[in-house]
Amino acid sequence: MDPLAKLRPGIRRIVAPNPSMMTGPGTNTYLFGRDKVAVLDPGPLIDNHIDAIIDFAAAPIAWVLVTHTHPDHSPAASVLAEITGAELIGIAAPEGPHQDKTFKPQRSLEDTEKFETDEFSLEVIRTPGHASNHICFLHAESNWLFTGDHVIDGSTVVIDPPDGNMKHYIESLRRVKRLECDALAPGHGEIIHDPARVVDWIIDHRLEREAKVVAALKQNPRLSTYDLVPHVYKDVDKRLYGWAERSLLAHLIKLEEDGRAGQAGGLWTALRE
Ligand SMILES: [Zn+2]
Repeated sequence: MDPLAKLRPGIRRIVAPNPSMMTGPGTNTYLFGRDKVAVLDPGPLIDNHIDAIIDFAAAPIAWVLVTHTHPDHSPAASVLAEITGAELIGIAAPEGPHQDKTFKPQRSLEDTEKFETDEFSLEVIRTPGHASNHICFLHAESNWLFTGDHVIDGSTVVIDPPDGNMKHYIESLRRVKRLECDALAPGHGEIIHDPARVVDWIIDHRLEREAKVVAALKQNPRLSTYDLVPHVYKDVDKRLYGWAERSLLAHLIKLEEDGRAGQAGGLWTALRE
């Protein structure tokens, strides 16, 4: 993956040097505009990535935006804003673990609000699910949606309750599909040029997983999430079972809300449908 890419006029991408099982090639940092630059998701606090963003911008950085406050997306934001004098824009971190509390936006964004400059316009699309404060940004000039971790290229994201919410996640995916955008620019991996197909695949994949949860519970009533993981995630690398258990819990909470599963003392059972 090209670490410094000019994707189209007025949109550039620089990849943070934080590759891993969870982040793929690293976090994508996007730059909008040429005369005055907005930076989206400057990534984890890595000094040479911050320097590289400033060099690559080659113009004043006036705004720093984030899609959400997980540790691979926002911790560089406040430092970059301090160095450049940019305005910090986004939604502050909710309570709970795995959140970057250093991100303190000067401007908060409402759903469907438009962030407009002389060169481009970004519409706020609130997409809770992966994170409760998650935002996608619809770039008007290209009709591309910048999806953070709502949709990523080449794998599925963890939904980690209670901040992660499977029901909201699926609803937010359906919302993205209705936008009929021309491409998705994810927080990890390459540009996705067939949004409808990919979003449909993710929704189907999540619902198939949910069906596996229900089937496993019917065969094995009164199971803990730990004991349920191998029944539901046979296709997943065992090293990822800890994260799989978090997404499994997200499915179970959704099933409980839907009246299809219940628990007593942490042991889950399917309810008669
Ligand atoms: Zn991420």
